[in-house]
Amino acid sequence: MKVLSVASEAAGLVKTGGLADVAGALPAALAAQGVAVTTLVPGYPAVLTKLSKKPQAVHKWDALLGTPARLLAGKLGDHPLLVLDAPALFAREGGPYADPSGRDWDDNWHRFAALARAAADIAGGAVEGLGFDLVHAHDWQAGMVPAYLRLAPLKGGRAVPSVMTIHNMAFQGYYPAEVFPKLGLPSSAWTVDGVESYGGVGFLKAGMQLADAITTVSPTYAGEICSVEFGMGLEGIVLARSNRVHGILNGIDTAEWNPATDPHLPANFTAATLAARRKNKRAIETEFSLDRSDGPLFVVVTRLTWQKGMDVLAGVLDHLAGIGARLALLGSGDAEIEQAFLAAAARHPGRIGVRIGYDEALSHRLQAGGDAILIPSRFEPCGLTQLYGLAYGCVPVVARTGGLADTVIDANPAALAAGVATGIQKNAVSHNALAMAVSRAVELFNRPAEWKRLQKNGMKANFSWGASGAAYAALYRHLIEEQA
Ligand code: ADP
Repeated sequence: MKVLSVASEAAGLVKTGGLADVAGALPAALAAQGVAVTTLVPGYPAVLTKLSKKPQAVHKWDALLGTPARLLAGKLGDHPLLVLDAPALFAREGGPYADPSGRDWDDNWHRFAALARAAADIAGGAVEGLGFDLVHAHDWQAGMVPAYLRLAPLKGGRAVPSVMTIHNMAFQGYYPAEVFPKLGLPSSAWTVDGVESYGGVGFLKAGMQLADAITTVSPTYAGEICSVEFGMGLEGIVLARSNRVHGILNGIDTAEWNPATDPHLPANFTAATLAARRKNKRAIETEFSLDRSDGPLFVVVTRLTWQKGMDVLAGVLDHLAGIGARLALLGSGDAEIEQAFLAAAARHPGRIGVRIGYDEALSHRLQAGGDAILIPSRFEPCGLTQLYGLAYGCVPVVARTGGLADTVIDANPAALAAGVATGIQKNAVSHNALAMAVSRAVELFNRPAEWKRLQKNGMKANFSWGASGAAYAALYRHLIEEQA
């Protein structure tokens, strides 16, 4: 079975969040299931520099939605990679979606429609020697893939089914009606059964409407997006197509995230050598100018946004420092939230340390040196940092939502008595609820035997890709048979 996976980022090439981790890990996860995955990504400068000096151009478009483009072949780890080199769309300074000042590119609709058009051409058989049985589209940036496959397939091309995965419903790729005539779709696509959405063009909506299956990244989130609060305007489609919606939990790349072998750590460790974590804790204290102590050290690795509940956490820091805990935070995002954390660090020197930025190696060291990781998200489709925390003995303290609810077992009296707890969950989004969760964590931390049990349970829990890879493979198989 050959699958084309279309994503706007992939770990190892370009990453802004969990989508990259998943797109990067899928080829290996599915190879284990007998599925060969080829990944298609845009040719941002960061991606082109990682290709070999003279990459092979396997296809050319004179005008891909109006712009010249080439398809370059490369490798993503051991797996095949295709890169869409369209300089007018992707050769620019800045991030994958925004200019250096953080403002979204005005032509994002064009950039990602072109990516989708290219994917539909490739899947249809435009490139000699490349054939696929199914296309897997990730997030709104690939949302138009199912639309092109269904409504404007390559002439004379092969029909293949598609899967649309929602990694985050908050990003929908919604554009004004004016862009519709430029998408190269028949006018009949301008309906609510096509790409139209609330009077504009909805990229994610189009994908959800026209894919053969919709998946999202945890069972709980799959249920949540049927509601107005989490569906964010697209709950109607989720409900209408509910027999096509599946929640498949993300796995983690256990080669990349293994505390026994992680090259980023001052000290490697296993569940049997937890005492070795102390050296990692000392290193974090030094790096963040925190007081040296064996008392509880919370860590945070995140985008600093409303979704992640970081505004709420900023309001709980005086409490956290007041009960003798410390915090080391790595993140970047909303300027106002960044300022709130920097101000708290200034108020509590030695107790709160803040690093604004993005640093992959430091994110590993924090998981290895922190006692607990705080993830008070308002919504969380799957979440990966709690899974890394579990694997690293860094106890997750999380909101009971989405994938966080599915992966962390709250240390309530029943779970403690049964010896199965792995972390702490909190309910409401409020300062009080979060402050209480922090206090609960500190209380448990001060009962070393119970705390160690939480750490060990977490490290035993298996969130590798095995089960999820099998679930995707089964879904692909089903859709391919259905189409035949
Ligand atoms: P989301 O995709 O919503 O941002 P996830 O928890 O699914 O959240 O994935 C976030 C990924 O990005 C994790 O791999 C996490 O370690 C990483 N990450 C987030 N912020 C930073 C940062 N400032 N520095 C390094 N890694 C980060």
